Amino acid sequence: MRYSGFRILQQALTGHKGWTPAWRNPDPQPHYDYVIVGGGGHGLATAYYLARQFRQSRIAVLEKGWIGGGNVGRNTTIIRSNYLLDGNEPFYEFSLRLWEGLEQDFNYNAMVSQRGILNLFHSDAQRDAYIRRGNAMRLHGADAELLDRDQVRRAYPFLDFDNARFPIKGGLAQRRGGTVRHDAVAWGYARGADQRGVDIIQNCAVTGLRIENGRCTGVDTTRGVIGAGKVGVAVAGNSSRVMAMAGLRLPIESHVLQAFVSEGLKPVLPGVITFGAGHFYCSQSDKGGLVFGGDLDGYNSYAQRGNLPVIEDVAEGGMALFPGLGRVRLLRAWGGVMDMSMDGSPIIDRTPVEGLYLNGGWCYGGFKATPASGWCFAHLLATDQPHPTATAYRLDRFARGLMIDEKGVGAQPNLH
Ligand SMILES: Cc1cc2nc3c(=O)[nH]c(=O)nc-3n(C[C@H](O)[C@H](O)[C@H](O)COP(=O)(O)OP(=O)(O)OC[C@H]3O[C@@H](n4cnc5c(N)ncnc54)[C@H](O)[C@@H]3O)c2cc1C
Repeated sequence: MRYSGFRILQQALTGHKGWTPAWRNPDPQPHYDYVIVGGGGHGLATAYYLARQFRQSRIAVLEKGWIGGGNVGRNTTIIRSNYLLDGNEPFYEFSLRLWEGLEQDFNYNAMVSQRGILNLFHSDAQRDAYIRRGNAMRLHGADAELLDRDQVRRAYPFLDFDNARFPIKGGLAQRRGGTVRHDAVAWGYARGADQRGVDIIQNCAVTGLRIENGRCTGVDTTRGVIGAGKVGVAVAGNSSRVMAMAGLRLPIESHVLQAFVSEGLKPVLPGVITFGAGHFYCSQSDKGGLVFGGDLDGYNSYAQRGNLPVIEDVAEGGMALFPGLGRVRLLRAWGGVMDMSMDGSPIIDRTPVEGLYLNGGWCYGGFKATPASGWCFAHLLATDQPHPTATAYRLDRFARGLMIDEKGVGAQPNLH
């Protein structure tokens, strides 16, 4: 069923009785050409582009829980391509361009909203660093604009411009950045993949990887053995657990990251803002709630929940920037498990086991990467060659000293 304004009108006139499920609920087949482990944004996008772009068939996505239950439905919904390094910026710009046509492409309203993102700076040195970043973005074809203090004040009058410790001196704006409704992305890709024949199998946890003569031939699951020509693993925070089933140790740690939503307010933030003197980022949802987040909880965990000290820390960052936040009630908080790589950049690569491929290490930033990650992983699975924008995301870069240390602040999850 194609969605359109006409379809809504037609259904409205017939009592909304003709809507069909967005995707099927098939039983697993004994063998597929491609098995994608993980039904998050990246796994579903991979299956979608494998079928749509690379014309592959006999594809299954195996999800241990339900579609949208992982990080794809838990993030703070920010999309952008304001990266500095050559290994990253073309990939994230490719992703932003895919976001721009995504809803028409998969015929689903994902509420892509290019309301802009603004990285605030609070010192001259930080301004210089942002000018450098903005220039790198423009050299790669992305948009970037330096705003002075008055321009920022006109757009965001409620911020504290004269904070004694962190006065706002301006900001680096990317007007094509913004937000996307996170779980709708999973639903849109799931529906688009299903329409192209992909089997999406929920409540199906992978419990083992079948390896014969150095080649991955399938997976053990809670719903039986499933054979595969190629297995692509895209399980985000569970990457190290699943790859351990093949005896591989990854340069990845799993950490908790929390997100927060306030009660609904009248419009106060037209776009996404990030605090430059602490870790705090915030936007306002279409329902009026402030959606914000900050640092990792700071310890390794596979639990999708966090603790109170970080809530206090994030609130302090928010208050330094936006004192009025202190009067606002916090409604909801939740956590997700982050696959933190050691240099802050992702991995899309083959593994030493033939037929086994890895997509992981997305840290805090994998939501914005969803379309390009799916496309590039599908490219790798279908052609055995990395996509031109993802050539730096090699698994062996840590051994070879070719890290992509995007923020340049340290090679540990708590430092980047
Ligand atoms: C609080 C928070 C805020 C964030 N904010 C942003 C943001 O603003 N912008 C941004 O770009 N990124 C953000 N991120 C990061 C982003 O959400 C993730 O990097 C991205 O969603 C990870 O990819 P995914 O969607 O495929 O992951 P997931 O949705 O987690 O998908 C992985 C799936 O694999 C499944 N799985 C795991 N093990 C198995 C198994 N053994 N068998 C079968 N299935 C399995 C899981 O159940 C899960 O559904 C945020 C993350 C969090 C938690």
